Amino acid sequence: MTAYDYDLFVIGGGSGGVRSARLAASMGKKVAIAEEYRFGGTCVIRGCVPKKLFVYASQFHEHFEDAAGYGWTVGESRFDWKTLVAAKDKEIARLEGLYRRGLENAGAELIDSRAELIDAHTIRLVKTAKQVTAERIIIATGSVANPHEALPGSEFCITSNEAFHLDALPKSILIAGGGYIAVEFANIFHGLGVDTTLIYRGREILSRFDHDMRQGLHKAMEDKGIRIILTDIIEEVTQSPAGGVSARTKAGATIVADQIMLALGRDPNTAGLGLEAAGVAMNERGAIIVDAYSRTNVAHIFALGDVTDRVQLTPVAIHEAMCFIETEYKNNPTAPDHDLIATAVFSQPEIGTVGLSEEEAAKKFDEIEIYRAEFRPMKATLSGRAEKMIMKLIVNAADRKVVGAHILGHEAGEMAQLLGISLKAGVTKDDFDRTMAVHPTASEELVTMYKPNYRLRNGERVEG
Ligand code: NDP
Repeated sequence: MTAYDYDLFVIGGGSGGVRSARLAASMGKKVAIAEEYRFGGTCVIRGCVPKKLFVYASQFHEHFEDAAGYGWTVGESRFDWKTLVAAKDKEIARLEGLYRRGLENAGAELIDSRAELIDAHTIRLVKTAKQVTAERIIIATGSVANPHEALPGSEFCITSNEAFHLDALPKSILIAGGGYIAVEFANIFHGLGVDTTLIYRGREILSRFDHDMRQGLHKAMEDKGIRIILTDIIEEVTQSPAGGVSARTKAGATIVADQIMLALGRDPNTAGLGLEAAGVAMNERGAIIVDAYSRTNVAHIFALGDVTDRVQLTPVAIHEAMCFIETEYKNNPTAPDHDLIATAVFSQPEIGTVGLSEEEAAKKFDEIEIYRAEFRPMKATLSGRAEKMIMKLIVNAADRKVVGAHILGHEAGEMAQLLGISLKAGVTKDDFDRTMAVHPTASEELVTMYKPNYRLRNGERVEG
């Protein structure tokens, strides 16, 4: 019998928090989980899930166009933003209900309140001012959109939070940033008929991705009509007298739009949590510092997911939660494995990727082979759409292991999941070569690229 009110108290009802609370409760532990907003967290409530629903909505415009080449006549089409938002909200409410029921059925106590630490074992529930104690504590409070307060006029801008609930679909939008969120929302808004401009400080969008994916997507987006401004930033935002907002950029441009959306990264959500009172150490970005087992410097306090600023992805938070359960409640110390995480950018076309980019692999290995195919997917033949697909494998010449796989094109995210399994299992290029193609598919290109397009030896390009 523990001397505390709970065996485990989880702060934050997002992906990592819910999974750890549910599993611990189902093992008979006395568990409470506190959430100040809505159970489901960023991913379910205002992230991955509503974003993907918006992506689907934004694709119909091209589907209707493509249909003509296949003999279909599609009547006049109209899009209604309010209908989409209401349908999305209904689905999100359903999912939130599932999260809540899952926790309840496992026996966890749900607390709809903000929770803050008072000391290393005591939590204050802000709504009721009640104080409770716990033997172990998990902090899984996620991250928040960087509001970029240093930008004059940032209060006139929106972030992805508001983008899901705008009263009306803007006629035009300027999106700042070159990462996942900026690129995904630029494609969503453009697909819904919004005049879209993206402004990014770097030389090419998606700085952490393979250069072929970055350039290929950039071209595809521009061909659709999305304006992309590189090596520039917004320096000031003002309200435009004619309505809307106006951005002045460092390079001297003035861009007027109905909305300006900032997608400049997400910061760990630790402000006011009482971490200092509990003695929990953070880094200079406010992220909680953890060891390989997600343990903070206070032995019984753990942190999972975005709040630790390791890899800001839902499946990573869930994996970290399951490792916590193994380590703490199953006597099986398990460190989360952050290697070879497959990921997708839900742009249009999508990017699906796992492993090293060409640039990273060239730095890591003496010699690498690049296999690359660029082609028009079959679906685009009759539709007449100009879009290209790119597939790329990066192989370490020394042991033939495939160290990176990158796809730009339809369903690239789905393919990345399967490639992730192969690379995790240590697949070699020879395994790809002896795998029979599935015909006719786009992904068969992955097993029919027999000769490298080029090699990089000590970072220098060598043909053949
Ligand atoms: P990212 O880290 O992907 O991108 C942030 C962007 O903002 C970068 O282009 C960065 O530039 C730029 N930036 C940062 N600070 C400034 C500044 N002061 N001025 C100008 N530009 C700036 O973050 P996101 O906000 O797009 O997404 C947050 C996280 O959420 C991602 O890291 C990702 O892990 C996750 N996510 C995952 C998705 C998925 O799996 N499909 C979808 C959406 C989000 P630079 O590159 O030069 O640093």
